[in-house]
Amino acid sequence: MSNTPKFFTQVNRYFDRAASFLDHPDGLLDQIKECNVVYHTAFPVKMDDGRIEVIHGWRAQHSQHRLPVKGGIRLTSHANEDEVTALAALMTYKCAMVDIPFGGAKGAIRVEKDHYSDAELERILRRYTYELVQKNCMGPTIDVPGPDMGIGEREVAWMADTYAALSPGQASTAGAITGKPVSQGGVRGRTEATGRGVYFGLREAVSIAEDMEPLGLETGLEGKTVVIQGLGNVGYHAGTFLAADGVKVVGILEREGAIYDSRGLDVEEIYRHRMAGGSLIDIEAEEVIEGGGEGARGLEWECDILLPAALESVIHADNAGRIQAKIIAEGANGPTTADAANILLERGVLMLPDMYLNAGGVTVSYFEWIKNLTHMRFGRMERRFEAASNERILQAVEGLTGKRFNGDVFESVAVGAKEEDLVNSGLEETMVNGYHEMRELARIHEADLRTGAFIVAIRKVALAYRERGIFP
Ligand code: NAD
Repeated sequence: MSNTPKFFTQVNRYFDRAASFLDHPDGLLDQIKECNVVYHTAFPVKMDDGRIEVIHGWRAQHSQHRLPVKGGIRLTSHANEDEVTALAALMTYKCAMVDIPFGGAKGAIRVEKDHYSDAELERILRRYTYELVQKNCMGPTIDVPGPDMGIGEREVAWMADTYAALSPGQASTAGAITGKPVSQGGVRGRTEATGRGVYFGLREAVSIAEDMEPLGLETGLEGKTVVIQGLGNVGYHAGTFLAADGVKVVGILEREGAIYDSRGLDVEEIYRHRMAGGSLIDIEAEEVIEGGGEGARGLEWECDILLPAALESVIHADNAGRIQAKIIAEGANGPTTADAANILLERGVLMLPDMYLNAGGVTVSYFEWIKNLTHMRFGRMERRFEAASNERILQAVEGLTGKRFNGDVFESVAVGAKEEDLVNSGLEETMVNGYHEMRELARIHEADLRTGAFIVAIRKVALAYRERGIFP
């Protein structure tokens, strides 16, 4: 692991491989690859006991070929410039891959979240927001942060409130950050969007007989087994959607250890147990490993699908040869090093790349941003109109056939779409189309899906630069 190349270097290795299939001029490729802006700030925050602690934060704006730039903020004890730059680059390619008209960005604050009180965390996030605003690194048309590891609706709400307080007279302050509670301009379906997108992506991947055959798998999700690393926002929601569609969750890895049970684990129950302060290793299972470090061995457990949804570089050259999964579904950002990916691809493992598979979050964030700019809930204009039209169609069919539909038919058909229905439909459309676009480019170039996804992304970013007349 110590020899693992830097994260940004790894992203650029993937980029270079895809770029070798394209004939774009070097200057253009160099411009796309470089990170445009990295802002590092160190600011003082008063702790509850009166001490002053200096907190380090970053915001990287990788590519401003489209504005605003977009990317989550994470709270981790190991936050650093390399990581934030690499993640910002992945955001650029991810947005381009799924046709979200944003440039890529990422933010991080170096804190171990559990070591701070709620009041201290609130002061840290409000001050970080102030720092971003002062440097013109936040705003609905400039740079729109969102949630990532350690950030939920509560933290986003603090940041949104601070931004609004610092921006008097601005019409759309809510559009300066996504992942807000619905009561503060958030969109229904955002919290579970990344997990739901992972589910749609996996469902699409396993529906193609030609791709399942070499893996020795039947098509469809029903009956497949999955091991999940990280039961946070992405892992928990993806696990819930997969389980609801017949996937058996046989392994879960968390900070405190890992558990495996071939009879299946109840994701919902385990999530609730942990949320109530319980530990994963309290759960009765066929195999229990104590300790987060040791628990990483669980990545090697037998399963059809391995879903890393916690940290980067957890699948590396040392353990890639022992991974038994036939499909790796990258819920987390950068969970597989470039060396490990080569080993796995050689072994015939189907790798669903992060820049496609976890794009559901930014997709629904885009919907939230549009809602904030238009100041209108999705479905408000058309919902009742649609319901009335559908009712008239049913009545016309009744008139023509002389038959009567019962009330249940009217209740299920004579309805209009609610905001959540529209958001989920837009997400499904994005993930399904994205899969086939990525797969087609991979097929044309006889390459893996990640290379296909990078080719799609590079072509779109290059086009945006060309449209601006900067490059021939
Ligand atoms: P989260 O903080 O909600 O969840 C992460 C989970 O991983 C937590 O439950 C944590 O306890 C667990 N974890 C931490 N260290 C671990 C270890 N050593 N072993 C096993 N588990 C460990 O974060 P999240 O939002 O779910 O993000 C997870 C990953 O998905 C990150 O890479 C993030 O960048 C990526 N991602 C998140 C979103 C989103 O919308 N939240 C979108 C795209 C990508």
